[in-house]
Amino acid sequence: MRIVTEVELLKYRCTKIIATIGPASNSPAMIRELIGAGVNVFRVNMSHGTHEVHGATIRMIREAAAELGSATAVLADLCGPKIRTGRFADGAVELVAGEEVVITTEDVPGDVRRIPSQYRELPRDVRPGDRVLLNDGAAELIVETVSGEHVRCQVVAGGVVGDHKGINLPDSVVSAPSLTDKDRIDAAFALAAGVDFLALSFVRSAADIRELRALVAAHDPAEGAVGIIAKIEKPEALEHGQAIIEEADGIMVARGDLGVELNPEQVPLAQAQLIMRARALNKPVIVATQMLESMISNPRPTRAEVSDVAFAVASGADAVMLSGESAVGSFPLAAVRMMDRVARQTESYHWHAGLEFSHAPGNPGEGVPFGDAIADATAKVVSDVRARAVVVISTQGTTAATISAARPSAPVIAVSGCARTCRRMSLMWGMIPHQVEAVGSENPNHIARRAARDLGLAASGEYIVMVRGFHADPAWNSPSITLLQV
Ligand code: PEP
Repeated sequence: MRIVTEVELLKYRCTKIIATIGPASNSPAMIRELIGAGVNVFRVNMSHGTHEVHGATIRMIREAAAELGSATAVLADLCGPKIRTGRFADGAVELVAGEEVVITTEDVPGDVRRIPSQYRELPRDVRPGDRVLLNDGAAELIVETVSGEHVRCQVVAGGVVGDHKGINLPDSVVSAPSLTDKDRIDAAFALAAGVDFLALSFVRSAADIRELRALVAAHDPAEGAVGIIAKIEKPEALEHGQAIIEEADGIMVARGDLGVELNPEQVPLAQAQLIMRARALNKPVIVATQMLESMISNPRPTRAEVSDVAFAVASGADAVMLSGESAVGSFPLAAVRMMDRVARQTESYHWHAGLEFSHAPGNPGEGVPFGDAIADATAKVVSDVRARAVVVISTQGTTAATISAARPSAPVIAVSGCARTCRRMSLMWGMIPHQVEAVGSENPNHIARRAARDLGLAASGEYIVMVRGFHADPAWNSPSITLLQV
């Protein structure tokens, strides 16, 4: 049995940490501390709060990152067609199994017999026998009859439901567009505020991603400057998983809603398959929701939560995410530190035990894609010569994404002259973004040697491996691997 001790922990964590910003964390001092504790990406949740508050938060993040010299990125999470309850006369009700309740689209205060919802299409989307799950599955109803604006249901599992809680329709075809009017307004705001990633909730097909991409292109002339993350939280998204991953710049396994739409026991297997699929396509994958949930009110996590984070790290996820823990919890800083410790412990064990987070296997008989072959060769050279670092020179992040997916066993210094590219690389496994002015004008060998020395990763005489030359345009795509002695 091998337990990694404190002194054996690796210097750099490869798995990235995303922290959701909220009332518990949106102050300049806390943001600085969170970056210091290891946050790589902040998530601004457009389901809550105003543009004014979000705008101020994004400015605070940019200022703190500039002060600390870190390439911290910002991800704006668009709510998508989330269906919600309206308001209740007493704020909340307790539904009892066996009772009847009517969901109505009329604008009335709710009570134990009547639940309002502003989603006008609800009576047309559901059929008798469909399930209706309220408040993250706290209560379950079955549709009995539909008439006009009213949906009569029987309560199958009782529970408490309050104002503006989620309504999930796992058996129905929801007709609301994936990109709602509110999402369009929120996306325009987020793009103007200069965010690095836009995440779209309740994605159902690759067409949803294309629609958001068209909206981004209309606002943001620098093509590819904003990464689009598909949140996988509906059974339809799993069905169309391959096409969605191909179209998006990354995915999030959004286990909160996914665990309501699927049976909870199906979620870990969906997570494992999504991680494999995303890695095979060189796209970053985020594992999200309830990772250290009990740390919302306790300074220490449960053993099961620690295992959950360790499992996500061992499966090769690019990032793990905190939600309520950092947004509204009492211990946001402790939660980030805990995530950092779990990830470093797991990664260090892998490293010392010689276990590699090797490339996800492609389709047998089809050969390995061109970029993956170069990335795999890089990982092999790194391991053969015991290189201390890989230096990737990347203009738009394409080279970095390809090398990241091969999970080389040495840290990857991702050099770019572009601040935006550096922030995009903050979500990629193993990347240490490093912005330098001289890319393009100085000898790349000098840039690589200096970066490795400046970051304290290689001393004189030690080997580093430099990779550059990937390009999205085949005419310019000429990757090379260079072995350098520092
Ligand atoms: C989720 O459902 O797990 C999720 C990340 O989405 P949200 O927090 O926006 O509900």
